[in-house]
Amino acid sequence: MDYKQFITLVEDWPKEGVQFKDITTLMDNGVAYKSAVDEIVQYAKDRQVDIIVGPEARGFIVGCPVAYALEIGFAPVRKEGKLPREVIKVDYGLEYGKDVLTIHKDAIKPGQRVLITDDLLATGGTIEATIKLVEELGGVVVGCAFLIELSYLNGRDKLEGYDVLTLMEYN
Ligand code: 5GP
Repeated sequence: MDYKQFITLVEDWPKEGVQFKDITTLMDNGVAYKSAVDEIVQYAKDRQVDIIVGPEARGFIVGCPVAYALEIGFAPVRKEGKLPREVIKVDYGLEYGKDVLTIHKDAIKPGQRVLITDDLLATGGTIEATIKLVEELGGVVVGCAFLIELSYLNGRDKLEGYDVLTLMEYN
């Protein structure tokens, strides 16, 4: 499916000079959303994934329906102060600033095969930080799946050695 027709390009948001790729108009369309999720479900099946991990908030939109379809778990990665129990954390740089990401310490068991999901790969900072959290808990990252890749930001350079699926590319 040509998913790009469902993405709305928003100029100068969240700040001047940035063209934001709005995925809500893809989610609005049940057929397109299901088709995108189904592609990632197949990717996860092929890699015998045990659990899905996604950073807030749009990583949930992509990862949770995949976890549901496969009857496997989903572990959220969240900004500092949002998860209620003991966490591990990592500092990361993102396209528009700096932040901290956390995951519950018991979210992943050592040796579990993990698929990481997010809506969009830009500089790769978010996903690199998420990988660090997963690996610190002993998880094995067997794939990273995104709806969109902004290839001009070279996020893939940070994902060398990892398997990556993207459904749309902007360059
Ligand atoms: P990165 O860490 O790869 O530089 O940035 C990716 C993160 O920023 C993702 O979690 C994504 O949700 C968010 N992001 C950055 N730019 C965009 C954009 O244009 N559209 C959407 N939907 N998310 C973006």
